[in-house]
Amino acid sequence: MTDTVLSLEGIEKRYPGGPAGAVEVLRGASLRLRQGEVVALVAPSGAGKSTLLHIAGLLDTADAGRVVIDGAEMTRLGDATRTAMRRAQIGFVYQFHHLLPEFTAAENVILPQLANGASRKAAAARAADLLARVGLQNRGGHRPAQLSGGEQQRVAFCRALANAPRLLLADEPTGNLDPQTSDQVFGVLMDLVRETGLSALIATHNLELAARMDRILRLDAGKIATAGAP
Ligand code: ADP
Repeated sequence: MTDTVLSLEGIEKRYPGGPAGAVEVLRGASLRLRQGEVVALVAPSGAGKSTLLHIAGLLDTADAGRVVIDGAEMTRLGDATRTAMRRAQIGFVYQFHHLLPEFTAAENVILPQLANGASRKAAAARAADLLARVGLQNRGGHRPAQLSGGEQQRVAFCRALANAPRLLLADEPTGNLDPQTSDQVFGVLMDLVRETGLSALIATHNLELAARMDRILRLDAGKIATAGAP
């Protein structure tokens, strides 16, 4: 048995190019994420962090290599199985909150649970619990436009965790916030991840935030170069 939650093995990805030819973004990127580990994925903009996260999160497919989640090979699954797997096992947080504007904060956390087969009562209870954990117990009835940027992002964390996934993937999760709010909201995310025992891979180009995680992985020339513990 293994306590590896996510394993990426030799991931390659190229985009068909414009005049300059194809862009080879990933050239054999490999990494492993253990149960409960929070790992920073660090690289400059354009290095392929989002591409790697989308492949790990089953939102995109690699040209070569393997994606293994909890010991199960994801690489050749059909679309329906990938969607079900993603919904149940993977939480995704983006730089922008992507909350549904016409729904309240609580509804944004309830809806993915209904899609995953939860009862409305159980989903509402879990949404209330998650929102309270990030300090938004009094904001459940607000729509995204009525929340601050930091609050919107905290709701997005709750939505990502709504179905109690095994794995959290975050792409510059505080990148849209001012430095002070970013610092604080990142702390909320770390507390939430630690409390739930989730494994998380968090892309950032903020080295201070990266230093607060268990390990830093650097993406360089399409491969992972380990930088060791901060
Ligand atoms: P990062 O997240 O590190 O900023 P990305 O994964 O977004 O990097 O992008 C890596 C490279 O791949 C960039 O050069 C980008 O222009 C290119 N790229 C990303 N998505 C596409 C796409 N759909 N088609 C063509 N090129 C793309």
